[in-house]
Amino acid sequence: MPDPLELAGELDDALRVASERARAYLEPLNDDPVQPSGADRVRSLFARPLPEDGDGALAAVRELAERAAPVATRSSGPRFFHFVIGGTTPAALAADWLTSAFDQNVGGWIASPLGTELELVALDWLKELFRLPPDWGGVLTTGATMANFVALAAARDWAGERQGVDVSAEGVRAMPQLPILTSGHIHVSSVKSLSLLGIGGDNIERFTRDAAGRLDVAAVEKRLDGLGGRPAIVIANAGEVNAGDFDPIGAMADLAERHGAWLHVDGAFGLFARLSPRTAHLVEGVERAHSAISDGHKWLNVPHDCGFAFVREPQRLARAFGETADYLPSEEDPHVNFGHLGPEGSRRARALVVWATLAAYGRAGYQTMVERHLDLAQRIGRIVDQADDLERLAHVQLNIVCFRYRPSGVPEEELDDLNSRLGEAVLEDGRVFVGITLHEGRVAFRPAIVNWRTREHDVDLLIDVVRTLGARLVAAAST
Ligand SMILES: *Cc1c(COP(=O)(O)O)cnc(C)c1O
Repeated sequence: MPDPLELAGELDDALRVASERARAYLEPLNDDPVQPSGADRVRSLFARPLPEDGDGALAAVRELAERAAPVATRSSGPRFFHFVIGGTTPAALAADWLTSAFDQNVGGWIASPLGTELELVALDWLKELFRLPPDWGGVLTTGATMANFVALAAARDWAGERQGVDVSAEGVRAMPQLPILTSGHIHVSSVKSLSLLGIGGDNIERFTRDAAGRLDVAAVEKRLDGLGGRPAIVIANAGEVNAGDFDPIGAMADLAERHGAWLHVDGAFGLFARLSPRTAHLVEGVERAHSAISDGHKWLNVPHDCGFAFVREPQRLARAFGETADYLPSEEDPHVNFGHLGPEGSRRARALVVWATLAAYGRAGYQTMVERHLDLAQRIGRIVDQADDLERLAHVQLNIVCFRYRPSGVPEEELDDLNSRLGEAVLEDGRVFVGITLHEGRVAFRPAIVNWRTREHDVDLLIDVVRTLGARLVAAAST
């Protein structure tokens, strides 16, 4: 019966095979179709009864690579414009391999001084990158969803303390309903986080002044006035997913200051607007917030999963996430224990990757990449504006372009159906990958550019595919 100890000698060969197969996967990545065919038979490639006797590491890794590579979605490639999914920089990928090899548990300092200290350095670098105050606390998370959760947990702790309640111990029912004020741009992950925190996703109050969901600042001010100093959380959205729009963060920071509210900024990708003087004004004021978050696996281009949460008052994290047990580090431990500052106990050493990619490319490298993406988004916007069969639906502020196919002769009431079917046809075609959404009630494409590999010919192909397949749909309908 082979067990891992008996087969330990396979390690070298298994790593060599993994490296070879990874290179074979990555080498044609710039040109491969994004979605290979065969998604519906993926399970059958792997599903079989649990083997009684294993085949050993070499055979297993080989089989995995052979079966998995052909059907893997090329979401780390240059033509994946769906959702907001970044690629993986070479430095980040290599560091991610080392992360698994070193396999540090960054739950507590004693388990990994390396992972803990490096996380502190990585967080410092990220604060420098985003120009956030250096004395803010922070923690790496699995992504922006958990980063929103962490920040809103800190806000919940603050609101409890203001009302003489220890929320962690007593629960939210020990305090009055906590008002959550925001625009129509709020991301579903904040809604989910508020549900998890017992505040309730349905209790969010959206103050909008138009169909796009833009913030009605005066209405927020009126609501805060009416609260008479009771604590409230204001959520500012830096980069919403339909068109990359921004809430007026500076005005919201003013309001929060005047009314003693907590300002949280969800900048899952929009915080990267800080990196370019061309877009920095969009997030001006984030440094006055009480918490702000962003994502690693989006615009930082590190592998899944990685996000960051920052809070003005570091002690809030320990109050929200502290835990005690006889076998764990005590609260008097002079070292930082990240397992007590976030939702996870055992934690992957995500800092290795963050540190490596920032060490490799620096602030200037990231600024160059972000500005290339801004240029590419503008390029799409220009092509859309010049094409008589395309219509731009929103101003291109950042890296998302919201547009629809609108050939002459198709009446308005048929455009939603046409664009929905076109969206499906584009995904089925597979050369480029782009999602559709509802923008101000209209079905629209919303390519997001966040991948370091993406270049002009990739976005040009996106437009070509949309127009060619669109014309085909219209022609088919008229015969
Ligand atoms: C992607 C995104 C999130 C959620 O991030 P995950 O990394 O998928 O958990 C939250 N907010 C915004 C604005 C986003 O774009």
